Amino acid sequence: MMTSHRIAVLPGDGIGQEVMKEAVEVLELLKKLDPSIRIEFDTFGWGSEYYLEHGKMMPDDALDKLKKYDAILFGAIGDKRVPDDVTVWGLIMPIRKKFKQYINLRPVKLLKGVSCRFTGEDIDFVIVRENAEGEYSNSGGRLYQGLDQEIAVQNTIITRAGTKKAARFAFEYAEKHGKGTVTSATKSNAIIHSMKLWDETVREVGQEFQAINLQSYYIDALAAYFVLKPEEFEVVVASNLFGDILSDLGSAVAGGLGLSPSANLNPEGDFPSMFEPVHGSAPDIAGKGIANPIAQIWSAALMLEHLGRADLAAVILESIEEVLVQKEVQTPDLGGNSTTSEMGSAIRDIIQQLL
Ligand code: ATP
Ligand code: MG
Repeated sequence: MMTSHRIAVLPGDGIGQEVMKEAVEVLELLKKLDPSIRIEFDTFGWGSEYYLEHGKMMPDDALDKLKKYDAILFGAIGDKRVPDDVTVWGLIMPIRKKFKQYINLRPVKLLKGVSCRFTGEDIDFVIVRENAEGEYSNSGGRLYQGLDQEIAVQNTIITRAGTKKAARFAFEYAEKHGKGTVTSATKSNAIIHSMKLWDETVREVGQEFQAINLQSYYIDALAAYFVLKPEEFEVVVASNLFGDILSDLGSAVAGGLGLSPSANLNPEGDFPSMFEPVHGSAPDIAGKGIANPIAQIWSAALMLEHLGRADLAAVILESIEEVLVQKEVQTPDLGGNSTTSEMGSAIRDIIQQLL
């Protein structure tokens, strides 16, 4: 199988740069071992340093440049010297919006060898989060500011079209991956307008997928089930806010931020999708060379899967798992004292044995 892909690499800030180096080396190794894969990278040094120099997180023509790539591999951004809303709205949000990345996909898979409360359980599901509308809207406002009567109204925008696309993605994902159940997060007993439309639309889409069972849980109960019976889930579909909360919960259930990848997808493929670890730039450990690169390397694997190389993604994941099982190389978040680059090399050594 001959594949040729152009990847835009955006390491970003802090540990983003440290973990990205390891992920890129994994991709370089794959290229060397499997001549059928042609990946070309261009690296862009956009982020907080760029902002401090130029007054913006990325140049004005950044989106035009990125549009030409098949995928974006992203590290993390965030810096004490730059306000949070600038880092987010100056880079990640424009990319997600412009490239219509309306699905945020987060695998919640407890890898073998990870020590946590759920060690030994078979936890392996994905969260499909609607990433473009919902509770995170700028519709609303405040009245009587400063007075005792002050009120704030925050509108949730749930559309039939947006919900349909998220639900369809979830069911198609289930179908493609041989999963039997889609679980929908709702709260239509209390949020009676938007969540009722969500429920109706998800149910309607579900009827097109007779082989897949749809179950619907209220978000409060679902959060509890994530901890009480995480092994039961297969595909969870949720609105923006519910999905955001469930994603962090899922990351905690599956061993923590150092092990959590994500994908911002444009399922139609008319724009590039973006792959990034769930964690941020981790200013507390940045520069020390001890960040766990697994979340970033796994994100690169999700990218390869999206680009049609599920075989290579599987090899990467198997190698990560093998290193975790061996427990000889462990970064501090996993309880050891190995460095970022030792972890990266250990994973690459296994890849080399497998390919
Ligand atoms: P941001 O605003 O950029 O999201 P944050 O401080 O809110 O930053 P993270 O950067 O994700 O969130 O860090 C949260 C905690 O998890 C920190 O203590 C950090 O050191 C730790 N952490 C995050 N990612 C990793 C990683 N890859 N390896 C080890 N520890 C990590
Ligand atoms: Mg954060």
